Amino acid sequence: MSLNYKSQNLLINNIPIKKVVRGNSTPFYLYSYEKIRNNFNNFSNYFKKVDPLICFSVKSNSNIFIISELGKLGSGADVVSKGELMKALKAKIKPHRIVFSGVGKTEEELLHAIKKKVLLINIESESEAILINKLSKKLNCITNIGIRINPGVDAKTMSKITTGKLDSKFGLLKSDFLKFCKNSKKYKNIKIKAISVHIGSQITSIGPYKKTLDFLLKTIKSSGISFEFVDLGGGFGIPYSKKDKIIDIKNYAKLVETFKNKLNCKIIFEPGRFIIGNTGTLISKVVFVKKSGKKYFIIIDAGMNDFMRPALYNAKHEIIPVLKSKKRINRNVEFVGPICESSDTFLKYKNFTYINEGSLVAITNVGAYGSTLSSNYNTRPLAAEIIIKKGQIKVIRKRQKISEII
Ligand SMILES: *Cc1c(COP(=O)(O)O)cnc(C)c1O
Repeated sequence: MSLNYKSQNLLINNIPIKKVVRGNSTPFYLYSYEKIRNNFNNFSNYFKKVDPLICFSVKSNSNIFIISELGKLGSGADVVSKGELMKALKAKIKPHRIVFSGVGKTEEELLHAIKKKVLLINIESESEAILINKLSKKLNCITNIGIRINPGVDAKTMSKITTGKLDSKFGLLKSDFLKFCKNSKKYKNIKIKAISVHIGSQITSIGPYKKTLDFLLKTIKSSGISFEFVDLGGGFGIPYSKKDKIIDIKNYAKLVETFKNKLNCKIIFEPGRFIIGNTGTLISKVVFVKKSGKKYFIIIDAGMNDFMRPALYNAKHEIIPVLKSKKRINRNVEFVGPICESSDTFLKYKNFTYINEGSLVAITNVGAYGSTLSSNYNTRPLAAEIIIKKGQIKVIRKRQKISEII
């Protein structure tokens, strides 16, 4: 993160967070542009020799300003809905740098993508290919597709974010993939350009990726097709706490390099979390400190509607004070939101810096699947999004007004 303390104040890129809070009501998402740029450039440098097309996964963070800044750094986009496709285009990502993924794209969504001539529509069933073929025929065009394959690899990540096991809904099984390749000539209005995989998210070791590359190599050989692109998906994990493993991307890059040289194809990646996860923090205010038996509930003004990962995935996101005190609360504290659900809870600590009603806290590493998973549950407005770029505080999405929901 780009967070650090100066005397007792929490700063983001040298700007005191309490300064950002003047003029902006909490809770709000706060991002560091510098961190986003560094993450993108780091990723790109790891794979320099592979020279991939990097398509930022828009579902991890779909703020148009952020997509557009990534576009300027050289990113394309991986989208999973018509809405995301429209956002990516609005952020000036060129259609030939956009891939469209998803198991259930509707006719309306496919039509839009076909007309916009995106680089690839990654199909996940033969039915989808038939529909694209039919729509393209009507429009008198040929559409480039990728075929998403299910490699039967367990990414060993949380069960709710693994996608590459044989019983998962994603992609074609190998036998169906080979059958499809064989019969594909009858579909005159689609052109198979790519094979694609995405085995899950928050992957912290390269073992599953290595298995996937081996699988792809064999499968591609059996298919007899020479694919112009191999889309290796995303999923690169990040450390959320000091205990978390850090993925060895350097060594993975070597494997991909060898893989690419064997096949003579172009490589696509679709990273989301790795680019954006640690660039954002959620700033929230303590509403009440409620003593209950032996523990303190710290009730903050951010709830599971603002940030769902803890409730949805049991994800742990460290919470730090915006003003550090020398005093401590030497009791169990539990940070909770205001929503009427018991799952609306964040983290528990054995003790914590002294904070009081009105104090500010920062929930860390919320840049990926934070804002994009938020909702209007309890008729609460969506939080603002703010970015620090070159010393400037810039609101990149206004806080929703309650009147806009009603
Ligand atoms: C979600 C998703 C990604 C991005 O995953 P990360 O774990 O954020 O890198 C990439 N590709 C597809 C098809 C996805 O569904």
